[in-house]
Amino acid sequence: MQICGVCALGLAASLAVARNITFVIISVGLCCLLAAFGFAYRHKVLASASTLLVSLSSMLFALAVTGAGLFDIAVLGYPTMIIFAAILGGVGLFLSLLSFVILQCIFIAWLSLQGIITPNVPSISWPHLIFILVIFIVTGFSVYILVRDIKRLMLSLHHENQKVEQSRTRIQHLAHHDNLTNLPNRLYGEALFNQSLASCETTGKSLALLFIDLDNFKPINDALGHAAGDQLLKLLTQQLSEILMPQQYLIRFGGDEFLVIAPIAPDSDELNQLAHSLILQCASVFNIFQTQVTVSASLGTANAPKDGTDFKQLCRKADIAMYKAKQDGRNTYHHYDESLDKASENKFKMLQLLRPALSEQQFELHYQPIVELQSGDINTLEALLRWPQPDGSMIPPDLFVPLAEGSGLINELGTWVVRQACQFCAKLRRQGHPNIRIAVNLSVMQFKDGQLQHTVESALYEAGLPPEALELELTESLLIDETEQIQQQLASLSQLGTTIAIDDFGTGYSNLVYLRNFNATKLKIDRSFISPLCFSKHDESLVEAIINMASSLGLKTVAEGIEDEVTLQKLISLGCDIGQGYYWSKPLPEDALAAFLMNYCAETASLKLSSSD
Ligand code: C2E
Ligand code: MG
Ligand code: MG
Repeated sequence: MQICGVCALGLAASLAVARNITFVIISVGLCCLLAAFGFAYRHKVLASASTLLVSLSSMLFALAVTGAGLFDIAVLGYPTMIIFAAILGGVGLFLSLLSFVILQCIFIAWLSLQGIITPNVPSISWPHLIFILVIFIVTGFSVYILVRDIKRLMLSLHHENQKVEQSRTRIQHLAHHDNLTNLPNRLYGEALFNQSLASCETTGKSLALLFIDLDNFKPINDALGHAAGDQLLKLLTQQLSEILMPQQYLIRFGGDEFLVIAPIAPDSDELNQLAHSLILQCASVFNIFQTQVTVSASLGTANAPKDGTDFKQLCRKADIAMYKAKQDGRNTYHHYDESLDKASENKFKMLQLLRPALSEQQFELHYQPIVELQSGDINTLEALLRWPQPDGSMIPPDLFVPLAEGSGLINELGTWVVRQACQFCAKLRRQGHPNIRIAVNLSVMQFKDGQLQHTVESALYEAGLPPEALELELTESLLIDETEQIQQQLASLSQLGTTIAIDDFGTGYSNLVYLRNFNATKLKIDRSFISPLCFSKHDESLVEAIINMASSLGLKTVAEGIEDEVTLQKLISLGCDIGQGYYWSKPLPEDALAAFLMNYCAETASLKLSSSD
């Protein structure tokens, strides 16, 4: 295209001046053109364009000066050159060429006006017209082709832009939504929260965060596989979305955790109702790959602006409240209040101190006697953990044992308890209580690593005790997590000769039937049923029913938390076999317990003696 333009200019020039000098000018011009092509061949685009345009304009100038001045056909080549300069070069080349052309025209006009040159206007002929038309056609087509290319370029650029825009939107969607459920993710959740908070400020509503955590998602994932877990989450998302209003948002927080953002009218019961219906929705039956699956959820709420306005802080608070709901037995909800925060802060501090306490052997075992109600004999002592503090106080096991369980320290701690308790039992046996036995509490976590039997055997061996000297207390919750692995371990432990007692009976599922599977020999009725025994007919009949059922299954019953004579007599009349409680003694440290045991045995021996007289 450029070559055609140049040829046309050359032709125009040659027609404009048909003299010898014209030939020389055109020859010089063509040499310059060759130089321009040389540059172009070596990809020196700017040098080539500059040489081409400067030489052409000089050639046109020379032709005009030697020909018809400003009326020379050569002048027609100027606009074409300016167009090429604009297209091929930068702003610099374009402006310099334009100025150069203007100066040349002014100069030619000045030369003519001063009479220095005499324009020689040729008479018009058909070849002139043809050459003028050739110039126009070539220039016109060149510009047309250029503009068409530019238009094409613009169109493809527009398409590219659209594609980029589409993928930008997609990337933004992916970055803001969860892949599996297509719900807004935590990041986008924060933006939605801030938006909702701003509109709540104008409407006078408060903004609630409801933190939902599924209670038993992991076992489903483990048992049915991840695909089933994913399916469950999708179905649950559908179910939860259905009950939400337009201003309420459901967010996938991660794993099996969801968050609901909901504006709440002041002084209304909306929050309770919403929490309640979310929990109900989670507790539905889901059909996953032809299997009926049920889950439940624990839910915690926090409220803006009451509990703060920062999204992350509120999430943390709702999470703390959710944990409280879990502690309250799951499948329920709890609202955040400051006391929960304090408790979790204390827990965190305690957790930090737990590991060094274990390595520095700060823990102690206290022992509480367990008494045969008919004979009054103490055959067993229960070992109970204590954590003495520098100020002389003791942290009770209810506070730190769950932390040790959560942090994985319970195995180490539990091993220490079994060994220490066995050592103390052996010591008492050597001190004149040859049949005394020891009961230790076990946590479910101690069954997880499969080391329990080894721990028990080596503790007994080190202390030189027979397996019958050891009783293992398991809570009902451990039996609910009934797995074959636990059952096997318990079977081999009872085969060894250690006995098994079910602790805190009545606080969990209280299903006597599964006790058989665990080779238990004793049932410890929880303190909460024993303390009100004398005032509550209901508790009395409950305790009586437990005792009767246990005896029909061949299990002995132990009443926990006997504090007075009246309760003791009531339990004896109901047929309870064994008792434990402050009535005889609080849990005592080793020396105090040894002294207590000595006195107690002496007293009961003399009582028995006097009653036999
Ligand atoms: P538990 O096994 O049911 O222990 C009985 C709890 O009742 C003990 O509380 C004991 O001090 C208390 N108690 C006994 N008689 C009475 C009474 O007449 N009145 C009142 N008010 N309380 C009485 P403690 O020592 O605070 O232990 C609490 C729980 O901590 C234990 O309940 C047990 O589940 C757990 N625990 C204690 N030591 C260990 C341990 O070494 N390992 C594990 N995994 N858990 C332990
Ligand atoms: Mg116990
Ligand atoms: Mg108990």
